[in-house]
Amino acid sequence: MQTLNDQISVLSGVGEKREQALNALGIFTIYDLLTYYPVRYSDLAVKTPAITADGEKVTFKGVVSSEPVVSRFGYRKMRVNFRVLVEHDNIMVTFFNQPWIQDRVHLGEEIAVYGTYQKARQSLSGIKVLTHGREDELEATYPSSKQVQQKTIKALIEQALGKYQHQIVDLIPENIRRRYQLLNKHDMIFGMHVPKDGQEAQTARRSASFEEFFLFQLRLQVLKMMDKKNQGRAIQFDNQRLKQFITTLPFELTTAQKKVVNEIVLDMKRPIHMNRLLQGDVGSGKTVVAALAMYATITAGMQATLMAPTEILAQQHAKTLGQFFQPQEVRVEILTGATKASIRRQILEDVRDGAVDILIGTHALIQPDIAFHNLGLAVIDEQHRFGVKQRALLRKIGMNPDILAMTATPIPRTLAITAYGEMDVSIIDQLPAGRKPIQTQWLRGNEFEEAIRFIRTQLTHGAQAYVVTPLIEESETLDVQNALAVYEELLQHFAPDYQVGLLHGRLANAEKDDVMARFKANEFQVLVATTVIEVGVDVPNATVMLILDADRFGLAQLHQLRGRVGRGERQSYTFLIADPKTQQGIERMTAMVETTDGFVLAQKDLELRGSGDILGNRQSGVPEFKVGDPVRDMVMMNAAQQSAIEIVSTPGWDTADQNTHLVNYLSETMAAYRHFD
Ligand code: ADP
Ligand code: MG
Repeated sequence: MQTLNDQISVLSGVGEKREQALNALGIFTIYDLLTYYPVRYSDLAVKTPAITADGEKVTFKGVVSSEPVVSRFGYRKMRVNFRVLVEHDNIMVTFFNQPWIQDRVHLGEEIAVYGTYQKARQSLSGIKVLTHGREDELEATYPSSKQVQQKTIKALIEQALGKYQHQIVDLIPENIRRRYQLLNKHDMIFGMHVPKDGQEAQTARRSASFEEFFLFQLRLQVLKMMDKKNQGRAIQFDNQRLKQFITTLPFELTTAQKKVVNEIVLDMKRPIHMNRLLQGDVGSGKTVVAALAMYATITAGMQATLMAPTEILAQQHAKTLGQFFQPQEVRVEILTGATKASIRRQILEDVRDGAVDILIGTHALIQPDIAFHNLGLAVIDEQHRFGVKQRALLRKIGMNPDILAMTATPIPRTLAITAYGEMDVSIIDQLPAGRKPIQTQWLRGNEFEEAIRFIRTQLTHGAQAYVVTPLIEESETLDVQNALAVYEELLQHFAPDYQVGLLHGRLANAEKDDVMARFKANEFQVLVATTVIEVGVDVPNATVMLILDADRFGLAQLHQLRGRVGRGERQSYTFLIADPKTQQGIERMTAMVETTDGFVLAQKDLELRGSGDILGNRQSGVPEFKVGDPVRDMVMMNAAQQSAIEIVSTPGWDTADQNTHLVNYLSETMAAYRHFD
């Protein structure tokens, strides 16, 4: 029996070598080939030279007015030249390295040629000779490789369409297809490869994008559903004790914090596995929310763990939590890459026995040798650093704990359903009261001295300042040298009135911690640092953030860095020193000056860089879509999600006859998802 899962080698003309070359393009099966869509269509519509722009690809139709002449040049190169009279213009046409053209061109006959027009020379660099120049004719262009050429792909697709068109089945249920006026899959595939006209090509593409989004969202929804069915842990926390604990905090919770704490602990209490994302801008106070969730877990007689992306951050969390909790009530321990083996062994033993209530750590924590006595909750700080794979790995920490992931990287809502579609989301949309908005200024390189003078005045008022030197991608050595140079300059400048510290990636972890601790203790007033301070570090007395060569940083990173100040009651300032050489750089600086809203900046970042950059990387865990763009087509992505939810929430959907193909399709993708387990 023929199926779309047949290997492409069943097609005639596909031997071992060609099969390998097709595999390299990601084409293994007939289905892969049929959904190997064109990247664009050339418009072969006939035009006249008068209305054709220089460099435009165009089809001219006319009468051959000179015999084709073949000439050779260089090593084994040849060209064919002839003239075509198109209305009043006698166009010179040249084809390179296509000797057969000569036989198709005859003096005095009508011809249509497609090529690139050079207006000044009235010449056409020929791409192909057309048998008939029809209006509205479209020609598909496929991504090809050296080994597999356009025409080979095209011929194979034609062959496959002929042999397999009756095997094509619909995955999108008919009612949804009708609602969004989508083509059925058969017509969609034909419309993609051999559209009758531009209109059909467009409808086919829209249908293909929708299908792609829909199947993606459906996978997430099924995953979510499986997750919910999963026997989670019902964390029966003691509400009285939690309330009592909240009164001991050094500040009043914001309304937004109260709201998300409620959402989280109620979710934890349900016997269903929690998989929740906590979004909140830098400084919105996510740590205390996590502390409350962990405290609630402990009142239920269970343990909690908190993972941070960096050593410094893990240390800071350990310290902060240590201040929130009474040591006799809650025992907090920290495990990092730097923890000595003997201490590590002891801590692990106490974790296993249940003597440790909260275990804090870096990635080093996700190791199979860690066994908890009774783990109820796992918190992940700065989620944007964890890909989908790590998220899946987390479930391997025994006991299927509830998961609370925290991120300060605001993702525009429409993108969030793509990036974290399988999670529930809680949002802190408010900063603690009394914070003054940070003032941001963009200065040129030659205004550095001025900025330093400003820092001095701030120091005289008892404040502290950060000076950040850029990360030079190619070389950590250069980073450090750069930071060192700035450090030495400022050391001299501020001596003997103020002390200056230095923090960079080459320092040992213990040294980094020491520097941070001393800055926090105000032993020095200026901290020169590379981006190691980027995430989460909290020094409320710091009021100035000076960023050198700020245009080397991305918007998200700049926003994170700026979030290091403005954490106390005093007015804070950010100076971006930059002489950007690109339009993008200029726009990034302008955006930073114009807004301190992380969501607005995230949206801007998206516009400047495109979603590919943000979603397409391994970190985000979001697949690259073949046809659709989740940002450009976000309305469609929303519709696809709605449709997916609609389906999985219909009882019996997975046994219904009309969904057989869909369920088959999903069983494969579910297996693919499972490889993370
Ligand atoms: P982030 O969300 O960036 O992780 P943090 O949790 O580090 O933010 O909180 C930033 C600062 O705000 C900390 O110094 C914290 O103690 C303080 N903070 C948190 N919540 C409140 C609040 N409700 N009122 C006042 N200060 C708060
Ligand atoms: Mg934080």
